[in-house]
This record gives sequence, structure tokens and C-alpha cells, in this order.
Amino acid sequence: MKSYDVAVIGSGPGGYVAAIRCAQLGMKTAIIEKYNTLGGTCLNVGCIPSKALLDSSHHYDDAVKHFEEHGIEIPGDIKVNLEKMIARKQAVVDQTTGGIDFLMKKNDIDVFHGLGAFKDKTTLTIKGDDDTDTEISAKHTIIATGSKPSTLPFIKVDKERIITSTEALKLKEIPKHLVIIGGGVIGLELGQVYRRLGAEVTVIEYMDRIIPTMDAGLSKELNKVFKKAKFKMQLSHKVKSVERVGDEVIIKADNKKGQEVEFKADYCLVSVGRSAYTAGLNAEAAGIELDDRGRVAVNAHLQTSANNIYAIGDVVKGAMLAHKAEEEGVFVAETIAGQKPHIDYNLIPGVVYTWPEVAAVGKTEAELKEAGVAYKTGQFPMRALGRSRASMDLDGFVKILADATTDEILGVHMIGARAADMIAEAVVAMEYRASAEDVSRMSHAHPTFTEAIKEAALAATEDRALHI
Ligand code: FAD
Ligand code: NAD
Repeated sequence: MKSYDVAVIGSGPGGYVAAIRCAQLGMKTAIIEKYNTLGGTCLNVGCIPSKALLDSSHHYDDAVKHFEEHGIEIPGDIKVNLEKMIARKQAVVDQTTGGIDFLMKKNDIDVFHGLGAFKDKTTLTIKGDDDTDTEISAKHTIIATGSKPSTLPFIKVDKERIITSTEALKLKEIPKHLVIIGGGVIGLELGQVYRRLGAEVTVIEYMDRIIPTMDAGLSKELNKVFKKAKFKMQLSHKVKSVERVGDEVIIKADNKKGQEVEFKADYCLVSVGRSAYTAGLNAEAAGIELDDRGRVAVNAHLQTSANNIYAIGDVVKGAMLAHKAEEEGVFVAETIAGQKPHIDYNLIPGVVYTWPEVAAVGKTEAELKEAGVAYKTGQFPMRALGRSRASMDLDGFVKILADATTDEILGVHMIGARAADMIAEAVVAMEYRASAEDVSRMSHAHPTFTEAIKEAALAATEDRALHI
């Protein structure tokens, strides 16, 4: 039986990053993955393929709606070849997952393909596709088994017409009418892909606003943009049944007034969140406890109830984000190596990769109000920037929330072109506990979208934005 300092179960962004950091720190490391390819949800059926389709559909949308204005004329009709678009996405995925194979080799990490399960606290069995069991021993194990799509108790996801994000990333036809249950991140990103490609898209959201966990100002602005693009937004609707009849899906919901409304679609995407995945892990054999939501319970060191076993990423509490999983992977590897790492969860940014992009870090206005923190606001519209006019990306704004007394930046919320990349500036500023005035006094290249951050900081500091 091979023995290791660390075995990692699951090769998503949490698991493979943890394995690399363990190897960098001189530990003999193994990684176990039940699928044929490495990279987990994020690389195979999450972050990467969804961004590939968002990019392709964005090009199409630009070609149809904006090229002419730019003076670019394309003779004949511009058409979508969905098969080719999906094949390009798959090529991006294959290249990216292949990159993880390379990284495992480069770092001398042993890769086992098969379902990893605990026999006891230090022994793992790996069941391969051919039903063979391999046993390894590990002084420490890191559980990074991720998550799977959640559904509602009365919905039977048939993966053909009633689908999750996994199927939505490889459809064979453009839906005529796509009904999306859940106006969160997945619903809006994939909804935008198919809306751009020509589908009628209806979003049914239980709460009174889309992306309800983000600052309310962002929800309002994104809703405005989506409505302009002729999305049908059904907010404050409680879905109560989803039924497939032939090739049709019939969705019934109660609206705000309690009246029943019915929607008919050829495809229904269920995107109401994801839940921790621990099936087949045999966690009990190692004395590992789960919490009330089926996640692996961990303490502040991400240590489970078995003290040589840690858990990270989507399978534990907190935001279900690839970069959160990565931070936790590094954190646990360094903890096992005897170091004292730290993660500031308040400074993990959240991004929605629609266009305009939505990005945020730190506290929302609602959170500051609830905590009784006195704060001031500086907001600057993207449309006032020369850069935005040059590319015709006029929607959105940057909003900075700063402490009313000390001027320390407490939250940054932005919606606009390239917000996903711009949010990094806010993370750096907040990591160094910058004041709004600090940021307002830094030179921002002109013309860039980042000038909106400087202007919002000026507005927060002394209400003296320059360009509005
Ligand atoms: P996962 O990536 O889920 O990996 C877990 C791995 O463990 C899987 O490969 C699984 O097969 C394996 N596994 C499970 N059990 C076992 C076992 N017993 N034995 C062996 N292997 C096992 N996040 C972002 O930050 N940015 C984005 O843009 C983004 N886009 C997304 C788009 C979509 C459509 C989806 C679905 C998710 C997206 N996410 C995004 C979320 C992101 O994918 C997850 O937060 C991230 O993948 C979590 O990483 P993880 O390592 O915890 O788990
Ligand atoms: P989500 O939590 O973002 O959104 C789910 C939405 O469904 C919420 O708005 C919720 O109010 C709504 N909802 C819940 N029950 C409902 C019901 N019965 N009827 C109508 N609406 C209902 O979840 P998701 O979009 O499924 O994404 C899952 C996870 O994947 C998220 O945690 C997210 O962090 C991650 N993800 C991240 C990205 C990114 O970082 N860009 C992209 C995709 C997914």
C-alpha cells in the first residue's frame, strides 16, 4: 500500500490547488478524482465553459447589434452555428483540464482516478471504473469533493428538457423559450448566453430582486439592462410545479398576489443553488461530522471532527466560489505544514460574468445598516467616462461605501464593462485598509474604466467627483 503525507479527495480548484501547495511544501501528495478529467466543476462544467459560451455569444451579439455602428459591414446574414460554439467551448475545457494533468506531473503528485472513500482516519479506498479497489494510506486528508446542483422537491430534473447548468452548457439546439427558475448567478449568466443567441428567456425568481445576495443597487441596474434586452423577469414568484409533457415543460408559480401563473417552455433550467457533495465518501468511517445542511463541518482551521482531516471549498460553509476554494486549499496545506495562514472572508470578491459584469467586495449597504455602521457613499456612472463612450459600454456604475468617521473603504460594488477585472483594485485597497481618499489620490490611467473607481472614491471622500 502506498503511503502519503497528504491525500486530497477531489480535483476542483480547491483540491488541485491544495495538492500543488502541499507538494511545494515538501509533502508527498496524492489526489483522487472520480471523473476521467481533473479540474472539478469549475473547469469541466462551471466557470470555464460558462465563460467560453458567454464570450462566444457576446461576439455574436456585438456582430448583430453593434458592428454596423462601428462601420463594419458583413454581407449576408450573421448566423449561429451552435454545434461549433459548443465544440469550441469543449476545446477550451479540454485544454484547461489538460493543464491540470501537467501541473500534477510537474509537482510529482500521484493522480488516482476513482471514487475515494474513507476506510478509517488514515486509510482511503479508491474504487476505479473497472470496480478494482486500490488502498492508500495518508497522514492527512483534505476533502475537496465540491457540490452538485440543487433542485426543488417537486422537480424531476430529466436532463433533457428540465435541466441544470451542466446540460445547459451542451444543448444541441437554441431553446425557443427557456424558463429559468432562480435569478442568481447561473440563471443570469446562462440566460444571457441563450437570450443573445435568440431564445426567449423568462427568469422566475422567488425573491423581489435578481442576484438577491448582492447590493440592491446592483440588482436594480442589472434588472434594467436585462429588461432592455427583453428578458422577462418574474420576481416574487414561488414556483410550485414543473411538469414535462412531451417536448414541452409546464411551470406553475404563485405570483406576489398569490395568483397562479403558468409558463410554457421547451427547456426549463433549474438554477436554485448548489449543495455540498459527500456521496460515497463514507465520512462516518473516519468520524467526520456533517452540519445541518449536509456540508462537512469544520472549525476555524478548516479541520473536521477528525483532527488529521480537513475540508475546503464548496463542500464546507461559505461562498461557493472557485477562488474561495483555492484560498482554502492553500490555507489548509500551509496549516498542515505548521504555518499560520489567514483568510479574510470579507475580502473574497463576488462576480457575475454577464455583460455588463457585476462585481463586489466587502459589505453591502444593507449589511452596514443592519450592523449600525455609519457610512458614506460615493457613486459614479460609467456613462460619464470617455472610455465607456469609446466602446459604447454605457451601463452601470461604481459605488464605494466608506466609514463615515475614518473614511476606510468598507465595500465596493460595481456593474459595468470589465468590472470582473476592476474589482481587484478594490480588493487590494481594502486588504491594505485604504481610505476612500487614498484611492482618490492615486493616478488611474486615462482612458480606462478604472477611472470610475477614482471618481467614486472622490465622491465618497468629499463629494467632489470631477467628471459629473
Ligand atoms: P469542485 O470543483 O466541485 O470539485 C470537486 C471534485 O471532487 C469533482 O471533480 C468531483 O468529481 C470530485 N469528487 C467528489 N466526490 C469524490 C470522491 N468521493 N472521490 C473522488 N472524487 C470526488 N465560481 C467562480 O468563482 N467563478 C465562476 O465564474 C463560476 N462559474 C460557475 C459556473 C457554473 C455553471 C457552475 C456550476 C459553478 C460556477 N462556479 C464559479 C462555482 C465553482 O465552480 C465552484 O465554487 C468550485 O468549482 C468549487 O471548487 P471545489 O474544489 O470545492 O469543488
Ligand atoms: P444562486 O444562489 O446564485 O441563485 C439561486 C437563486 O434561486 C436565488 O436568487 C434564489 O433566491 C433563487 N431561488 C431559490 N429557490 C427558488 C424557488 N423555489 N423559486 C424561484 N427562485 C428560487 O445559485 P446558482 O445560480 O444556482 O449558483 C450556484 C452556485 O454556483 C452559487 O453559489 C454561485 O456562487 C456559484 N456560481 C458562481 C458563479 C460566479 O462566480 N460567476 C457563476 C455560476 C455559479
